[in-house]
Amino acid sequence: MIANSLFNFPVNMTFFSTSMKLEIQNTPFISHLDKPTRTEALEYYRRLIQHFDLDIHLYEEVKRMQPITDGYAVDTVKATYPTRSVVVATGFYDTPRKMNIPGEDLPKVRHYYDDPYAYIGQDVLVIGAANSACDAALECWRKGARVTMAVRGPEINERVKYWIKPDIENRIEEGSITAYFNTTTEEIREDTVLLGTPAGPLELKNDFVLAMTGYQPNFALFERLGLPVEEGDACKPIFHPNTLETTLPNVYMAGVACAGRQTSKLFIENTRDHGDIIVEGIQQQAVAH
Ligand SMILES: Cc1cc2nc3c(=O)[nH]c(=O)nc-3n(C[C@H](O)[C@H](O)[C@H](O)COP(=O)(O)OP(=O)(O)OC[C@H]3O[C@@H](n4cnc5c(N)ncnc54)[C@H](O)[C@@H]3O)c2cc1C
Repeated sequence: MIANSLFNFPVNMTFFSTSMKLEIQNTPFISHLDKPTRTEALEYYRRLIQHFDLDIHLYEEVKRMQPITDGYAVDTVKATYPTRSVVVATGFYDTPRKMNIPGEDLPKVRHYYDDPYAYIGQDVLVIGAANSACDAALECWRKGARVTMAVRGPEINERVKYWIKPDIENRIEEGSITAYFNTTTEEIREDTVLLGTPAGPLELKNDFVLAMTGYQPNFALFERLGLPVEEGDACKPIFHPNTLETTLPNVYMAGVACAGRQTSKLFIENTRDHGDIIVEGIQQQAVAH
């Protein structure tokens, strides 16, 4: 799907970046306010694809690739494409970071928060305390859900946007939203959830769980493509910082997939020049041939 990650963002989300900082190819991004909405961004990127007449094969997952003479054979679910260069820009939003607890696969558990209207009058557990969790908790509470937050650490994440952090902290302090800190979610059951709090186990009535526990690149795909990752927690793919070329010749990394598990380090603003860097590298290689 075009701009698949943006498509799966919460329907009411507004970007924290101004539209100017999301622009690519020197093409103005006009939005009604300085910070665009999800719909405005979807429309901007859709128009770019149309304007530059990009040859995009939608609904065609890449499964693996193998080296061939003078390039690679890339296998998708529909075909095999021989190519000289490959750019891996697979992001991280397709792979939620799972908690691996009993009940996580129940249909009431969502790893993507969509629309607060789904949760009116419901007992909702929001797991996490970063931006997505705070946005979801506030929106759902404002539409009439009974919201509880289960937070692994001792406080709301310090990286939460500066206009959201006081809002969520004040709602917790006044008791509108109940938050359990230093708390893990142990089990999700049909009608309840079981939390591990500092005061001991706690079972709460529950209709929906919004597990805002983050996302990570598809490391299994990197392996199938033959892309090594750094050792350590971040598991960053290995590439040259100036050219973005990986250890496989003519295979480049682009976008937030470059960050490995450090998903908050990269975003559109600071990766939107990746395309230009890679095209320049490919052109230089072509001249050298
Ligand atoms: C709620 C939210 C708000 C955000 N707000 C901002 C903001 O204000 N400013 C900002 O700069 N950034 C923001 N970001 C971050 C920004 O959305 C990401 O940095 C950006 O989408 C990353 O772009 P990308 O092209 O690297 O990856 P993605 O946009 O994730 O694109 C990767 C694409 O590759 C596809 N793909 C994956 N695997 C395969 C496969 N095997 N075969 C084929 N296709 C595949 C995916 O489906 C997807 O379409 C926000 C993120 C979230 C979640």
